[in-house]
Amino acid sequence: MTIRELITKYSAGLEDISDTPRLDVEMLLSRALGDVDRIYIHMNIDKELEEDIQNKFTKMYDMRKDGRPIAYILGNREFMGLDFHVEEGVLIPRPDTEPLIEELIEIFAGRIQIVDIGTGSGAITVSLAKYLPESRVLSLDISDKPLEVGARNAEANGVADRVQFLQSNMFSAIENSGMVFDLIVSNPPYIRREDIKGLQKQVKDFEPILALDGGTDGLDFYRDITRESKKYLKKGGILAYEVGHDQAEEVSEILKSNGYKKIYTKKDLSGIDRVVIGHNL
Ligand code: GLN
Repeated sequence: MTIRELITKYSAGLEDISDTPRLDVEMLLSRALGDVDRIYIHMNIDKELEEDIQNKFTKMYDMRKDGRPIAYILGNREFMGLDFHVEEGVLIPRPDTEPLIEELIEIFAGRIQIVDIGTGSGAITVSLAKYLPESRVLSLDISDKPLEVGARNAEANGVADRVQFLQSNMFSAIENSGMVFDLIVSNPPYIRREDIKGLQKQVKDFEPILALDGGTDGLDFYRDITRESKKYLKKGGILAYEVGHDQAEEVSEILKSNGYKKIYTKKDLSGIDRVVIGHNL
């Protein structure tokens, strides 16, 4: 079978499970070929594939066909130009989160103290530490796996000396520490509980529900974190959230009713209000 034939055949097979079947096939094939560039695939489109390459490919293809996300099959995902190891038990980094990082690296500079609520893969923690090279980040998560994966990603991206991981249910681990921060950042679970069953199979059957379930109206964590946040924020500090596609207004209201000032939102690449920021003035 040639590369072209393989792409045609297997892309068709993924149409019901994936929004990007061809891209998925190309990503799996480039891994099977030993992590070649996708350009290589197109330069060699009529090349005959050896049997062992085809076998490597179909092994991964079968996992994808079952609904497993590409990032869990390959074990990594790019975010903010950095490479993140991912595995089941941590939410896969999404482009939806990049506008939050972009905004924060515009606002801040210097030796700031950051706390990230909900480590996940470490995407927010590690990219802030990387692009704010004098910052220090405390990264909190209730689950074990994110703390382990986050630490691995901090190490791999050369920021481990400025990042600390701690098991914590929101702020619980630092309750009596007296610690205060310049920035509290979070991409909390924000899917309405009712909506979880309607998510794509690759999300609801493979990604951690704990990282998705935001309670009845999806806003539980915004209310809880915001209510507690001021105790941990310096005067002039910032609270910054990623929010669900229709939550910017309600989350802004939550910030307002907790006394936050200069509240504003930022859009993602699809034009959706994705970031909500408030100041503790
Ligand atoms: N953006 C994720 C999704 O829709 C949800 C992440 C979250 O709940 N924070 O799949």
